[in-house]
Amino acid sequence: MFFRDVVGQERIKARLIHSVRDQRVPHAMLFLGPEGHGGLPLAIAFARYLNCSNRTDSDACGHCPSCLKISKLVHPDLHFVFPVVKVGSKDVVSDMRLPAWREAVLKNPYLTSEQWMECIGAENKQGGIFKEESEKIISKLLVKSFESEYKVMIVWMAEKLNVPTANKLLKIFEEPPEKTLFILIASASEQMLPTILSRMQIFLVPQIEEDAMREEIIRRNNVSPEMAGRIVKMSAGDFSAALAYLSEGSADTEFYDYFVRWMRLCWSVRSVNKSRQMSSMLELIRLIEKLSSLGRERIKQFLSYSIGLIRENLLLHCGKEELVRLDSREQEFSSKFSAYIHQDNVFQIIEELSLAYEHIESNGNEKIVMTDLVLRLIRLIK
Ligand SMILES: [Zn+2]
Repeated sequence: MFFRDVVGQERIKARLIHSVRDQRVPHAMLFLGPEGHGGLPLAIAFARYLNCSNRTDSDACGHCPSCLKISKLVHPDLHFVFPVVKVGSKDVVSDMRLPAWREAVLKNPYLTSEQWMECIGAENKQGGIFKEESEKIISKLLVKSFESEYKVMIVWMAEKLNVPTANKLLKIFEEPPEKTLFILIASASEQMLPTILSRMQIFLVPQIEEDAMREEIIRRNNVSPEMAGRIVKMSAGDFSAALAYLSEGSADTEFYDYFVRWMRLCWSVRSVNKSRQMSSMLELIRLIEKLSSLGRERIKQFLSYSIGLIRENLLLHCGKEELVRLDSREQEFSSKFSAYIHQDNVFQIIEELSLAYEHIESNGNEKIVMTDLVLRLIRLIK
């Protein structure tokens, strides 16, 4: 992983490179953002850059002994901590899973927590970073670095540090041994202890820029620009999501189809014809079931997609065609649908969609949240 392999995120890359050039590298950083925004690839690219003996103004060299070892994730001064699952009552630390971790990250640095849990056969068990890990971390960092200038400890999914582990690490986060660097990566800061957060320099990892996503999708998969555009929109700046669409080939129709079906049902369920009303209601229930079974991340992406489409329809409604970015199918649907999105309902519709997004994100029950949302929108779309 080089900086050039990290999709987009140019501002953070520049900030990190500057910190090295100005010799002001923070000793404890937190990369905060959803996994698919690229916190992990950024951290690995930065660790490589930092220890490269022949770096340029923009990236590591790729040939020096440090670069060669980081290419295989076997550098003795680059350490990883990540969630693992307990086997019986035995304690497990990250090192016991290191070969699987290396393989998974080398294959896909935009790894999601779900994919990682699958890799280690966690099934329904909760992954965690347990107390024994903190002892391991401290003992590793007390040893002098082997061959590099910096020792780097990357903690992936730092929100999984449980309270005893986190408490044990507070002191070392605050005063790490010289030339030691912590990079914590997390997507949910509200699950982290304030005492940890206050010791970190926080780098918000935002949605990936659309142009960078589009270019990378086309480069990797040879899809049409229109399809790439659709995937970019559906994955809302999340490269892991884009990869999932590409591998399933589902980007073509899925969200658009759900959205159109939902909006049409909002109408037909209010029909004066009783039997039509009843069949629409049954159909809505099936749609709710389908949507709530997509899984948390996909539901969130569907909601982002819906918000985007509603916004574009408002622009159409206001006669701002030149600002609208829809593909041909969406355009055809929206030419009629936009009549129903106007200043009297658009704010409430977007608020309902955003609220559902927040509830899904904070672990609300998918079926309850989606049922509520689908029913509320029936009253708003008219
Ligand atoms: Zn190098």
